[in-house]
Amino acid sequence: MIRFDVLTLFPDMFSAVLGDSIIKKAEEKGLVSFNFIDIRDYTKNKHRKVDDYPYSGGGGMLMAAQPIYDAYQSIVAELDYKPLTIYMSPQGKVFNQKMAVDLSKYEHIVILCGHYEGVDQRVLDMIVDMEISIGDFVLTGGEIPAMAIIDSICRMIPGVLASESSYENESHFSGLLEY
Ligand code: SAM
Repeated sequence: MIRFDVLTLFPDMFSAVLGDSIIKKAEEKGLVSFNFIDIRDYTKNKHRKVDDYPYSGGGGMLMAAQPIYDAYQSIVAELDYKPLTIYMSPQGKVFNQKMAVDLSKYEHIVILCGHYEGVDQRVLDMIVDMEISIGDFVLTGGEIPAMAIIDSICRMIPGVLASESSYENESHFSGLLEY
């Protein structure tokens, strides 16, 4: 069983992809659980603003550290361990099938989805263990990348697909493409 906590500005986006088909069945079978946390709920200003000017100057807006940190604390405060915490980033390690297999062995993964020019580095330094990219191109936000890796990780959890041979003969599993 893997628990995913996703820190996002757009929690409603996820049900379209993860609320159907094989992943929905996996959740119903208790093989995976999802919690989508709206970072905006943790703002301390009356306009629920989540962007900020970069602390070190420079152009563009960043996602502010405080609401992300407080949203993260709402997950970890009750735990006696640190869940693997991933920031979706075009600057991260490019995701592949081996990473999907490796990550499917974790019991608890937190995923942070960025927006704007990215996330205030100070909060990344405090909470993130790993940065993952889904390819050498840039999207407007981390939600689609997060859904892509969650889908791929979930398929590797025993019991999610009908049989292990469904993925063992698949493209990329052993470094080759399917015949
Ligand atoms: N200024 C950043 C840079 O140059 O690296 C790009 C920020 S991007 C417009 C906004 C957010 O989308 C990022 O914080 C990240 O969460 C997400 N994102 C964009 N492209 C991505 C990719 N290829 N893989 C994973 N996440 C991505």
